[in-house]
Amino acid sequence: MDARPAAGSVFPAEWRHDHGDCAIRLYCRGTGRYAKVSYPQQYGIYSEIETAEAVMRFNLKGEIVYLRGKGQDWPHPQEWLKRTIGNDWLYYSTGGYNGVVEAIGEYYLPNTPYPTNSLLGGRPFELPAVSQLIASWPDLLAEAVAELSPGLPGHAREILARMLSNDPQALQARAAELFAINGGRVTVLPPDARHVDYDVVPVHVNEGCLYKCRFCRVKSERPYRRRPWDEVEIQIQRLRDWFGGDTVNVNSLFLGEHDALAAGSEMILAAIDRARAVLGLADSAMAGGNVFLFGSVDSLLAAPASLFEALDRSSCQVYINVGLESVDQESLDQLGKPLAAARVMQAFHRIQEINGSLAGVEVTANFIMDDLAPGHLPSLVKLLGEGVAKTRSKGCIYLSPLAVGSPSRSKVMDFYRLKQLSRLPTFLYIIQRL
Ligand code: SF4
Repeated sequence: MDARPAAGSVFPAEWRHDHGDCAIRLYCRGTGRYAKVSYPQQYGIYSEIETAEAVMRFNLKGEIVYLRGKGQDWPHPQEWLKRTIGNDWLYYSTGGYNGVVEAIGEYYLPNTPYPTNSLLGGRPFELPAVSQLIASWPDLLAEAVAELSPGLPGHAREILARMLSNDPQALQARAAELFAINGGRVTVLPPDARHVDYDVVPVHVNEGCLYKCRFCRVKSERPYRRRPWDEVEIQIQRLRDWFGGDTVNVNSLFLGEHDALAAGSEMILAAIDRARAVLGLADSAMAGGNVFLFGSVDSLLAAPASLFEALDRSSCQVYINVGLESVDQESLDQLGKPLAAARVMQAFHRIQEINGSLAGVEVTANFIMDDLAPGHLPSLVKLLGEGVAKTRSKGCIYLSPLAVGSPSRSKVMDFYRLKQLSRLPTFLYIIQRL
């Protein structure tokens, strides 16, 4: 356990009470640093209720964030469900420890309840033990509260009452409030957000994207629009109220929507400073700080060097993810991405320059891994091999199939062949929403 003094000092010491088959633990300290490890980790500060059937964990507002069944039928003792702030349940699976970390850079595979582009994973939400636990946790909680409450002091009973009030309807309404604050749901997070288990505060500094590519399933239909500062300021104040005390468990920002880099230097730097200050992210129980955003070929090439230098000097590690898709013109046309291949190539080389010169900024790139025009895969292999002077540990490449909802072993083998030829860290992109 990593109880960092700054955060730990403002919370009471961990407290535990057992009764019969049930136990309650309050102010538990999870790990205080995001790490890639092959065993389950709980991050930040949380409360836990354990019964004979399940383990349930809650954030500081008493909202459930974790579930694990304890019965024989639970798929694996080291697999669990996580509830996101958008009120999705994700199932974290080990993937049988079979190549998951090589494929996605993480030891656990997040399975989503909605169709996504993942080539890995099974159908955990179809397993009765998983679907039943998602449906029955409110009853399990109510039974545990009835069992535990008589012996508890007032402060613990208050926390239990808060947990009970956050029933599935209330949680759904809370997620809807979040989407309203942002002006819409975050339909896709940058793949780099995996470094913080996708735990981010979303602040939208603009809307939509520049290209509206034909192939893209996550784009906003709204025309591209820069948000004025007063809208961003109001959004940040409302996010502070929405997160309440639970920003202590978050150290990272996502600047949305699909091309925050196009919002310009002044907005990007001001939004990072303001949001971190108002939300108190520097005092998080999670060490460090991160900013994630999407860019595009045009916003990357238009951004002045001074912006990247300023981001490098900030107190955060900054990850910018750019969709390049292909360096083959016929394939770009097929995808309906309105760009010239030469410009995509120019962006790729600019990315290498930034990654080679600024330690605090990492620009990552996405490519389509599918049978497009005949020139696509050969040009991609050439780019990721000969196109990079030497092997680098920074500047991840994320590959993604066009199809959604169809895991495929043969596509995974194609991915491994590309990964072997690439001089950059190369992973599968798992599209996850918030
Ligand atoms: S791929 Fe990116 S730029 Fe193209 S439509 Fe989707 S969000 Fe917009």
